[in-house]
Amino acid sequence: MRVLLIEDDATIAEPLAEGLSRYGLSVERVATGGDALAGPFGDIVLLDLGLPDMDGIDVCRRIRQVSHVPIIMLTARGEEADRVVGLEMGADDYLAKPFSMRELIARIRAVTRRTRSTAAHPDPAALAGAGLPGAVRSGSVAQPDVPVSEEPRRLGALVVDVRTRQAWVGGALVELTPKEFDLLALLAEDPGAVCSRRRILAEVWDPHFHGPTKTLDVHVAALRRKLGDPGWIRTLRGVGFRLVVPAAHD
Ligand code: CA
Repeated sequence: MRVLLIEDDATIAEPLAEGLSRYGLSVERVATGGDALAGPFGDIVLLDLGLPDMDGIDVCRRIRQVSHVPIIMLTARGEEADRVVGLEMGADDYLAKPFSMRELIARIRAVTRRTRSTAAHPDPAALAGAGLPGAVRSGSVAQPDVPVSEEPRRLGALVVDVRTRQAWVGGALVELTPKEFDLLALLAEDPGAVCSRRRILAEVWDPHFHGPTKTLDVHVAALRRKLGDPGWIRTLRGVGFRLVVPAAHD
C-alpha cells in the first residue's frame, strides 16, 4: 500500500515515514500542499492541516475534487473546527497529534476497509466523480490490506487478539489499559525478539516521543503484574524488552 504523507514538520514526518515503512507501507513524503496536489496520491493520504503554502482544508477539498483516495487528517490541538470542516470536505477521518504508530495503523486499516467496501458497491455520486478529469478510482477490492495479522496470537497460555483488543492467560481475560494492550501486542508480534525501548516508545506512545521514559517501565511493571507472572516479559537493561513464555505457562 502506498501512502502520501503531507507534513511540513520533518521532526514529525521522518519518524512517521520510518514507522509506516516498518509496517510494510511505502511512503511518499511531501512538505507542501502544492507538491501534494501534483500527485500521485497513492492508496491513502495522510494530511497535516497546518501547511506552509496553503490551508490543509483546501488541499483536502482539491484532492477530493479529483480522487476518492481515503484521506486521514493529522490535526494539532485547537483545530477542532478544522476537523469538522475537513470531514465535510471529504476527509475520511482525523487523528489528533500526538498519536501513536499503532493508533495510526488502526485508523488506516479502518478507513481502507471502509472505503474498499464502498468501492465494491459504488453509488451514483462516486461514479460521477470517477468521470472527472484526472480522477483516480481508489480503494479497489484487490488492494492488499495493511499487513498486520488479525489472527489471535497464541504463546503458551497467552492469547493476544488485536482485532478485539483482548488478551487471555490460561483462558482468563486480562483487563488491560489501551497502552498496556498495545505494549503487549507489540511484544507478541515477534516473541523472543528484543523490542527496543525507542521502538516501543515510538509505536505505543508517539513517533515524536522525547519525554522521560520512566512511564514505559511503569507500564511494563503493571503488565507483568496483570499477566500474573513477571517471567512473561524479560528486561534487557537499557536496551529493551522481550516476550517469552515462562516454563510454567508453556
Ligand atoms: Ca504543519
